Amino acid sequence: MEQKDLRRWEWLCIQEEPPLCQAACPIHVDVRLFTRHLAAGKVDEARKVLAKTMPLSGVLGRICDHPCENACRRADPEDGDEGIRIGSLERACVIQSDARPRSLPVPPKNFTAAVVGGGLSALTAAWDLGRKGVRVSLLVPEREIGGVLLAYPESVLPAEALARELELLKAMPVTIETDVAIDADRIQRLLDEHAGVYLGLDSLALSDIHVDLVFDIKALDPVSRSTGRPGLFAGAPLGSTPFSPIQAVLHGRQAALSIERTAQNVSLSASREKEGPFETRLFTSMADVEHAPATPMADPGGYTPEEARAEAARCIQCECKECVKVCPYLAHFKGYPKKYAREIYNNLSVVHGLRAANTMIESCSNCGLCAEVCPNDFHMGTLCLMARREMVRQDKMPASAFDFALRDLDFNVSSKATLAKPDPDTGACEWAFVPGCQLAGATPELVRATYDHLRAGLEGGVGLLMHCCGAPAEWAGRKDVLANVTESFRALWKELGEPKLVLACTTCLQTFADLLPEIPCTSLWEVLEPMDLPEGAGGEGVYTLHDPCTSRYLAAVQNSARTMAGRLGVTLRDADLTGVNTECCGFGGLMECANPAMATKVVERRTTDNPSPFLAYCAMCRDSLSRQGAPVVHMLDLLFPGLARNPEPASPNPLVRSGPGPADKHENRARLRAQLAKELWNEEQGPMEKYEEIELILEPEVQSAVDERRILAEDIRRAIAHAEETGRSMKHPESGRFLVSHQPAAVTYWVEYAPEPGGQAFRVYRAWSHRMILQGAQ
Ligand code: SF4
Ligand code: SF4
Ligand code: SF4
Repeated sequence: MEQKDLRRWEWLCIQEEPPLCQAACPIHVDVRLFTRHLAAGKVDEARKVLAKTMPLSGVLGRICDHPCENACRRADPEDGDEGIRIGSLERACVIQSDARPRSLPVPPKNFTAAVVGGGLSALTAAWDLGRKGVRVSLLVPEREIGGVLLAYPESVLPAEALARELELLKAMPVTIETDVAIDADRIQRLLDEHAGVYLGLDSLALSDIHVDLVFDIKALDPVSRSTGRPGLFAGAPLGSTPFSPIQAVLHGRQAALSIERTAQNVSLSASREKEGPFETRLFTSMADVEHAPATPMADPGGYTPEEARAEAARCIQCECKECVKVCPYLAHFKGYPKKYAREIYNNLSVVHGLRAANTMIESCSNCGLCAEVCPNDFHMGTLCLMARREMVRQDKMPASAFDFALRDLDFNVSSKATLAKPDPDTGACEWAFVPGCQLAGATPELVRATYDHLRAGLEGGVGLLMHCCGAPAEWAGRKDVLANVTESFRALWKELGEPKLVLACTTCLQTFADLLPEIPCTSLWEVLEPMDLPEGAGGEGVYTLHDPCTSRYLAAVQNSARTMAGRLGVTLRDADLTGVNTECCGFGGLMECANPAMATKVVERRTTDNPSPFLAYCAMCRDSLSRQGAPVVHMLDLLFPGLARNPEPASPNPLVRSGPGPADKHENRARLRAQLAKELWNEEQGPMEKYEEIELILEPEVQSAVDERRILAEDIRRAIAHAEETGRSMKHPESGRFLVSHQPAAVTYWVEYAPEPGGQAFRVYRAWSHRMILQGAQ
């Protein structure tokens, strides 16, 4: 990933944009943090937030004309909600808090400035420059400092409050002279002596000088406050509109920055788009926000501490995080996609990557829900896939991440699991049924029943094509493997005479649409919809329909699944997130393989508070949801209820059953392939390899530990066969059990077993694997 890619991803996520109030505030007070402190009763902390941005916070906090309030996300004239009363809260805060802003000593700057005026605007310019170590001559034309401020009633702005802020100003390198005569000559002399001069026109006496003689007020630049005369800046003219304290402050601040830039000889206009109010891109949903009117004020003079707390608590702390709200994976890493994009980018330059960042990259399910709910379509799955491909390219993808899935894929495209045959009765092949690896592994009997049903209902001959679609290779970032798998699939399809494919799995459908667009594909549900139902088909009761995440944009498939469910006699309720917003089951993107704990979280979110059993139409979804104990029925179970087996004893619904583990699925596929080839095409299986003849006995708890560790029966058989053949094993003297290791490739497998009487079957007590190489073990 190049830096320009990172910038694009970062731009897409608007979570770090300021909230509406802050963007509308001309000096960008961090209102979110301010109200957060205030709501928690931390008035001094809230005051510090104001002081960080505000000059003379004890003054401005009392009188600001708060344009932020109208912009507030809370403001909703329709339901009567007002924006947060930020102005009143700031006033309450500066009255109730004694905290004084600390000004840290800074090294003096090598230039000086003159500020003319005694109003808020001039005081702001002097404040901002003085805080940065600029020596400022503040020349006040009146006898008293304050300009328009002096016109405020004592109840609104007490003289003592202004005096306290002026004390802080005097502690800076600011020299104040009052009663100074100002005319055009004096201004010229000031320009000769200083790097820049600011005229704060909200000083009453300054309105007496003929500004026209000094500069053309119409030429005043609204951002730099430049008058057009080099070094001379002006702002806050007293015009026909009411005096705006916050505008006066903004003008003083803009001028102070311009004087600094003049002294440093840098552009007056560059990168100043976000000075003053600007449009923020932050999106904040109001979907779950309850109506709450503004907190009334018992005394019109201002909020009491309790009232201020209540009003501050109305702030909804605007942020986006729409994606984080719906995705346990995104929530787990405690950030949001913009932050993650940076972490991923940085991680790609670390030699082996950082563990936490690697885990982040490997764990996303690529389900795309984030992009669906994001106002800017940020697809974290796409970003993670790009990163995975890059890790593979740089040879730093941890081998453990997707090892099992890739070995499983290898098996599924091997001659043991692949089958491509035309219709066994006619030899024709206008259609071909593609059950997909998961349905074949989970419920082989349903593959056979569905195939027979399709053959009975479709004209032109229905073939069978068992082969992986390549999705696991895509998810693992293995473009090389993916290219081989799709090529091999295309070749089989051509051999069959280029039939129309009927796909039971929407992941296959999605993969082929992307990678083999020349192949005509239809989902099983669209094909079944107009066909007669098989005898005995149907069910009853209410189910929650679970759409697979790979059907997100396949509305026709989702509609057919709903129609089929209706025809089968069950009542559907939609999950909270459904259709185009459906959630992943935890398998997609190989999440379950790379980070089983994360997949569990995903399923927990999906299944918590669900009032009825799920109806799934993807085999993997059924198995993933049922593995966490959720009652799930597959649509094909309703189509062929007579084939129900191994029902969950705890469930009253005989169609609810748990899916087999990965090891059993592996075996099931091979068995199904051999059985179909024999029964339908009279094809005898080739001789078994010696290790395949070994019969294993595993108690359920051993089986589930083996599944969790992603160890296949094949791995165990090979380890036992290797030991029996070579005699390399350790035997426990008391239990008589053998401990053997076998390392066919990068992984070493350990098995503890004992032969059963007769010698053909072996009871397995434990099995585990690791990646360490045992010297001399083979
Ligand atoms: S939805 Fe997520 S990715 Fe999109 S802008 Fe919001 S926080 Fe960023
Ligand atoms: S609700 Fe709070 S954070 Fe959002 S705009 Fe209003 S004051 Fe700002
Ligand atoms: S798991 Fe799905 S919703 Fe979550 S980040 Fe990945 S693609 Fe987006």
